[in-house]
Amino acid sequence: MTMAEFSINRLKSGGLITNYFCSSSCRHCLYNCSPQWEKQYIDAETARENLEKIRAMGCRAVHIGGGEPLLRPEILITVLEVAKAVGVSIEYVETNSSWFKDNDSAISLLSRLRDKGLHTLLVSISPFHNEQIPFARVQGVVDAAQHAGIGIFPWVSDFVSDLTSFDTTRPHSLNEYQQRFGDDYLMQIMQRYWIHLGGRALETFRPWLGKKTLQQVLDENPGGCAVELSDTSHFHMDLFGNYIPGLCSGLVISCDDLGSRLSADKYPILVKLYSEGIRGLVSMATEMFGFAPQINNYINKCDLCTEIRTYMVNSDYNESSELNPAGFYTQIEKICAA
Ligand code: SF4
Ligand code: SF4
Repeated sequence: MTMAEFSINRLKSGGLITNYFCSSSCRHCLYNCSPQWEKQYIDAETARENLEKIRAMGCRAVHIGGGEPLLRPEILITVLEVAKAVGVSIEYVETNSSWFKDNDSAISLLSRLRDKGLHTLLVSISPFHNEQIPFARVQGVVDAAQHAGIGIFPWVSDFVSDLTSFDTTRPHSLNEYQQRFGDDYLMQIMQRYWIHLGGRALETFRPWLGKKTLQQVLDENPGGCAVELSDTSHFHMDLFGNYIPGLCSGLVISCDDLGSRLSADKYPILVKLYSEGIRGLVSMATEMFGFAPQINNYINKCDLCTEIRTYMVNSDYNESSELNPAGFYTQIEKICAA
């Protein structure tokens, strides 16, 4: 493949991000979601355009995620209605359960969502979520879903025994987990849970996994990122009408440009990454912005890629709109500085 051939032509499996603002700010979040994001939610027109595009590109079912989609139930209902009208089925809606107040109100809400086509909830169950969300709320949502006739996709049940070993009525920090289960608890988690090392997970796991110098990262990654950027097996489209290539959070393609060759004029960073990979991005950032690495213990090429892109955003890069959503870059700093 040459750089002239970068295009996304078919979509396999993915999801719709209805909002990035979230009631939690989990330390593994790939999209850097948090309560500090602007409270923006997808509108009906963008949902329709995204879902029509998804269907036209060969994908007939998606999940809905965020952020926390159930923070605005009325908008979620609209999205479910739009999906039905467009002919895209909803595999599941993700939730962190923070919204749970009591059994009756949860059953009432979930019954309304069921009537609009929601049949499965992916319920987040992890120590990361438990830092801010008491597990009793998760248990409440699971019970209410059963009453409402909605299936549960627990993600992941393996952590239930860890979470229920604490008082479930309040949150618990990762430090508490480390004290109880060992200093290497975060590394134990990696064996039990799918974590993509991008977004906020980079800072969280750097003390354990950040072992590479910049030169090592460059030596180990001589080629382009064509495989990762072209992967449509876990794609996402968001409330801003953007497509996120692969799992490369912080990089976007306008949904209007899907199905066409991406030009280097409009997408200089993506085309560079596609064809020359991290080496190309380092050269570009060094020549154009005087980029100098601040980290000397990288986890992987995506860690360096994220550092460079953040540096470019902070240098007021405005030559293309690929480095979005803006909150992805501002929330890296806020949480990391916290
Ligand atoms: S992982 Fe989910 S619940 Fe946690 S901050 Fe990200 S979107 Fe919110
Ligand atoms: S280096 Fe950048 S473009 Fe390449 S896979 Fe990682 S995040 Fe994506």
